[in-house]
Amino acid sequence: MTNAVDQQIAEEIRQADRFLILSHVRPDADAVGSLLGLGLALMNAGKLVQMVLTDGVDSFEYLPKYDLIVNTPTIQPDWIIVVDCSDPSRVGDGLDGYAKPNLVVDHHKTNLKFGIYNIVEPEQVATAAILYDHMLGWGLDFDPEIATCLLSGIIGDTIGFRTSNVDSEVLRKSADLMDLGAKMSDIYRKGLVMKSFKAVQYWGSGLRRITLEDGLVWTSLTLADRNEIGYPENDDADLVNVLSSVKEAKIAVILVEQSKNHVKISWRARPEIDVSGIAFEFGGGGHAAAAGADIEGSLEDVRRRVIHRTKILLDEQTSC
Ligand code: 5GP
Ligand code: MN
Repeated sequence: MTNAVDQQIAEEIRQADRFLILSHVRPDADAVGSLLGLGLALMNAGKLVQMVLTDGVDSFEYLPKYDLIVNTPTIQPDWIIVVDCSDPSRVGDGLDGYAKPNLVVDHHKTNLKFGIYNIVEPEQVATAAILYDHMLGWGLDFDPEIATCLLSGIIGDTIGFRTSNVDSEVLRKSADLMDLGAKMSDIYRKGLVMKSFKAVQYWGSGLRRITLEDGLVWTSLTLADRNEIGYPENDDADLVNVLSSVKEAKIAVILVEQSKNHVKISWRARPEIDVSGIAFEFGGGGHAAAAGADIEGSLEDVRRRVIHRTKILLDEQTSC
């Protein structure tokens, strides 16, 4: 699928030597898989590459070469690439002091197109799937490790091919990546199924407070829960996927207290509902079926505002 823009990108990549690649805070498998897949391909092409995630990658040690990823950029790059981020703040402080990214690759509907080149394809299931389509056109080749990273991104964002945007094309790409050396059952088990004991205990804290009201299911995870259990990350340990399996609910919301004045929200919606707009309203973004935001305020205050607004959205979107 090589076009004129891909050819220009290929030419600029050919001429550049030093690459800085970044992805989002609280990275998921698509962020890490896309970062590594693209980074390793650039390294194979003889480039100097620094891959940055400001939050680190502790839970992705099953991905090849994850130990090359650093928390803080230190190089003076010729070229900057941001993957899987809809706006520059998603990178954390990773872009501070750097020029506008040369290339943004993303699949979020709410993307602000903040790069010089923007390959933004919201119909794609994962940024890794976009990379799979374009990398050959950019003069970059695959190997088994790169294929593993890209398939991890696809499996992560589709929750194991379960989301409503999965079509035969996605399965075909995934099959191609398996032919290139990715081991699907391995990725599936390590990326989706296995959870640490602490993560599952942490779910328990959230599940104790789970509430179902008018088609909306929600819960929160507090700093006290995290400290009590010793859960090491600042995410929801994918508890939102458990919440969204509640049959009676059309929208699931999880609130994760980050500090006394900062809460991370995740929304998940059934296919007929779009939660990307409401996430954008709260300063975040995402997809119709899965979106998030970082909101200032106490857990109680944010919960009141978010649940109130989400109920209105549910009313609006189910009454027409
Ligand atoms: P999650 O709820 O798993 O963090 O994210 C769901 C989707 O929304 C992901 O595609 C993620 O990139 C996006 N998202 C989550 N939080 C934010 C946020 O604070 N800002 C933006 N722009 N997107 C977010
Ligand atoms: Mn993604």
